[in-house]
Amino acid sequence: MSDVRNVIIIGSGPAGYTAAVYAARGDLKPLVFEGSVTAGGALMNTTDVENFPGFPDGIMGPDLMDNLRKQAERFGAELITDDVTEVDLNADPKIVKVGDDVYRARTVIVATGSGYRELGLPDEQRLSGRGVSWCATCDGFFFREQDIAVVGGGDTAMEEAIFLTKFARTVTVVHRRGELRASKIMQDRAFANEKIRFQWDSEVTAIHGDDRVNGVTLRNVKTGEENRLDITGLFIAIGHDPRSELFAGQLETDPDGYLLVDAPTTKTKVPGVFACGDVVDHVYRQAITAAGTGCSAAIDAERWLQDRD
Ligand code: FAD
Repeated sequence: MSDVRNVIIIGSGPAGYTAAVYAARGDLKPLVFEGSVTAGGALMNTTDVENFPGFPDGIMGPDLMDNLRKQAERFGAELITDDVTEVDLNADPKIVKVGDDVYRARTVIVATGSGYRELGLPDEQRLSGRGVSWCATCDGFFFREQDIAVVGGGDTAMEEAIFLTKFARTVTVVHRRGELRASKIMQDRAFANEKIRFQWDSEVTAIHGDDRVNGVTLRNVKTGEENRLDITGLFIAIGHDPRSELFAGQLETDPDGYLLVDAPTTKTKVPGVFACGDVVDHVYRQAITAAGTGCSAAIDAERWLQDRD
């Protein structure tokens, strides 16, 4: 079948584009579905990225993604800015659909990422990268000697809060309930940290600031009382949703929906299907780790094809 591609890549974040660069340089002529509204992935919603190796002065998230896109195109990757709506990964060749358009490929690389849960407040996206963050590892450094808050009560929220005390003057944990969900050991560490304070039974109802965050409104869920907290950073740690629904019933996931692979490879249980980036990774969630596994996925796909040629 002449219209059968060697590889289709679903996703255009650091994982998808890196897979595209490697697959293109391996002469596999990859076809990449970039997604529509979220083309370029999570870094399109941020400002400075200071921890991607190779950029000593940092780089803006959208510029980094534009560079990766150009690099993939330069070696011949074909890019389609649309959402994949259906797949049949067990078919031979594998089928990928965008509405009524049908594409076929011998291998598929899944790099659909994960979505950070949002509070759903009107100013949240506007101030994303301007004080609102979903990643302490990425952004903690920007908040030296500042007063900041973390929303959430699970292990991740406690990890983020404790990590942020390296930089911040104070970290207020805002939690909807009167006790934490986090494990006992994380709770003990957080309670013992002098920089961490707790705002119990509270939720954030508004984020304030023109160019940058300068405060939030907190509402006590029991009394309804509202008060303002002056902070310059708001870290939202209420969970992530891996974008794996498209593959339901075809690829294995863990109980939280992350795709399972035969680590350290990117092989899924379905022969010829590989997965990489944040749709697999609930531990590191960094651009460089996503790019790293994107590279692995392209090499895994290339070797898989080679073994069958
Ligand atoms: P993503 O970047 O999420 O990309 C997923 C891709 O899949 C998107 O292109 C989307 O369009 C596509 N997709 C999804 N569904 C479909 C579909 N059905 N069809 C076609 N395409 C689809 N990390 C750092 O290392 N440093 C930082 O400074 C940093 N800052 C961050 C700031 C913010 C605000 C956020 C949200 C994240 C930040 N991160 C940072 C984390 C980093 O962005 C992620 O770890 C990384 O983007 C994950 O890459 P990925 O390729 O796996 O997924």
